[in-house]
Amino acid sequence: MFKVFITSRVLERIARDVNRPAERIGLLMGVLDDGSLWVNDIIPAGVEMSEVHCVFPPRHLAQVANDIVEGRIQGRIVGWYHSHPGHGLFLSQTDLDTHMQFHQFSPYALSLVADPKSGEFGVWNYENGLGVVQLPSNYIHII
Ligand SMILES: [Zn+2]
Repeated sequence: MFKVFITSRVLERIARDVNRPAERIGLLMGVLDDGSLWVNDIIPAGVEMSEVHCVFPPRHLAQVANDIVEGRIQGRIVGWYHSHPGHGLFLSQTDLDTHMQFHQFSPYALSLVADPKSGEFGVWNYENGLGVVQLPSNYIHII
């Protein structure tokens, strides 16, 4: 397990993006440094999801990956976030599948779920031998 540092600005931007009744989804951007993961930016997908559990739009992901390669976006994709308006903090089977897609790119990939109704959020990562587990709050540092 590794420590995660999230800037308060990132949390404010996520809170603003997910503050609506439909599910929202986006990318977490950051860097891996000295065994800790720093989340310092987000890229909202900017789409309203009609289903309760959404999948990251593949075209959007490909566009972001291309922008990184061509230098239009700094940093790297370190995970994804989405909202569960009023239904709490957990990962559905679809969310777990999405997590493992990001895990293919980085073993440090994070899934962040925010519930705008309660104002809470949770962070998950993949642990060898355990699968996808929620990070305890003492591993999450807001800076
Ligand atoms: Zn979900």
